[in-house]
Amino acid sequence: MKRIIVIGGGVIGLCSAYYLHKHGHEVEIIDKSNMDEGASYVNAGYLSPSHIIPLSAPGVMRKGLRWMLNSSSPLYIKPRLDMDLLKWGLAFNSSCNPRHVKRSIPVIRDISVLSQELFDELKKQQEFTFHYDKKGLMMLCRTQKGMEEELKVADLATKADLEVSVLNAEEFREIEPKANIDSIGAILYKCDFHTTPHEFMSDMKSYLTKARVRIHPNEMVKDFQISAKTIKAVYTDKASYEADEVVLAAGSWSGLIARKLGKHLLMQAGKGYRINTTTDYGISIPAILSERKIAITPMNGFTRVAGTMEIAGINNRINKVRVDAIANGARLYYPDMNLTAQEKKDAACGLRPVTPDGLPYIGRSETCKNLTFAAGHAMMGWSMATATGKLVQEVIDDKKPSVKMELFNPDRRFR
Ligand SMILES: Cc1cc2nc3c(=O)[nH]c(=O)nc-3n(C[C@H](O)[C@H](O)[C@H](O)COP(=O)(O)OP(=O)(O)OC[C@H]3O[C@@H](n4cnc5c(N)ncnc54)[C@H](O)[C@@H]3O)c2cc1C
Repeated sequence: MKRIIVIGGGVIGLCSAYYLHKHGHEVEIIDKSNMDEGASYVNAGYLSPSHIIPLSAPGVMRKGLRWMLNSSSPLYIKPRLDMDLLKWGLAFNSSCNPRHVKRSIPVIRDISVLSQELFDELKKQQEFTFHYDKKGLMMLCRTQKGMEEELKVADLATKADLEVSVLNAEEFREIEPKANIDSIGAILYKCDFHTTPHEFMSDMKSYLTKARVRIHPNEMVKDFQISAKTIKAVYTDKASYEADEVVLAAGSWSGLIARKLGKHLLMQAGKGYRINTTTDYGISIPAILSERKIAITPMNGFTRVAGTMEIAGINNRINKVRVDAIANGARLYYPDMNLTAQEKKDAACGLRPVTPDGLPYIGRSETCKNLTFAAGHAMMGWSMATATGKLVQEVIDDKKPSVKMELFNPDRRFR
């Protein structure tokens, strides 16, 4: 049994703690927040192996640069003089190539499919009552160009053995008869599932608390005691903790914390927003509005509209322009959807931890012998959460990993 400190109580930290505890370790979680906000609470809830193309794909940088002047675009990189952003941008650009996409596809699929299997396993336990549905995910397109782009991805997903079908307007209306949808066609990914995030987070926190995993909310990790490349103690603003092993699962803040350990981790925060509505628009199947990159999810008792990727530093400022852009974009595809001023006012945001190649950092690094990274999942942290937790446990127990992990190496170089 090892004494393990997990830094960060988002979905990645909680899932890591879960598998480590299951394998007999004494685990404590430290989180600087109240553990009820941020990316792990505002996300679209998709468990989506269909997202097999990493964020850094050919053409994305060009689009990002074009969108730089438009603060309501789906991807927005705020221009600023920042060395980290520059380095990240150069690394991102060098990852936007077909070779990177090709080698990432099987890896993304394998970790996401394993994650779904582990969500299935969790759901069978009586402590886990979270909403979990297997209705697939539609990519809705309003333009021929959008449809053509989605067909290319669908082709790659089919080749990766995922269950995909192409629907014309009549066909998607048959499976989603109660919603008024303005779209010329859709790709249906039957392989994708969805959840209501705060329910899963709440189940996981209750489970861990009952299992005597000690959780320390509102406590911030500030520094470390390191000797011979080994973390001896973790210092917070309230206490210090000795540990045999440390897991760094602090999402977008992981880069800042890694610096205290002498590791330069390329990472940017990608802000996204969610708007919840309790109005019934007849939506029963999750959908991504392809040209606008907006996610629509029927959750337990409400529908969530989520979107935008705003690379603008670490902050929780709500930009009204972007909230309006999401609401207006949703209305183009669902003309009946009229999100109220109050619903928009209640919008919340979260920071996706974005690496330059769109793949997470999972595993050990040369930096410290007893440190395991579990961060940088960008748009896929929910989909990859349970499998990441399992991989963290396998790394710490020195077991063969359930999926190939080479591309997740925290020490990888970007060129
Ligand atoms: C709008 C939106 C929609 C999304 N939709 C999806 C989706 O449908 N499917 C999907 O797979 N992914 C989705 N994602 C991405 C997913 O939500 C994230 O990848 C995931 O939540 C990241 O989890 P995490 O635990 O790494 O980070 P976080 O949830 O950010 O947790 C990190 C935790 O670390 C804590 N922390 C930071 N610094 C310190 C410190 N110094 N000391 C102690 N604690 C610290 C923070 O307080 C925080 O609680 C979406 C994200 C957004 C924003």
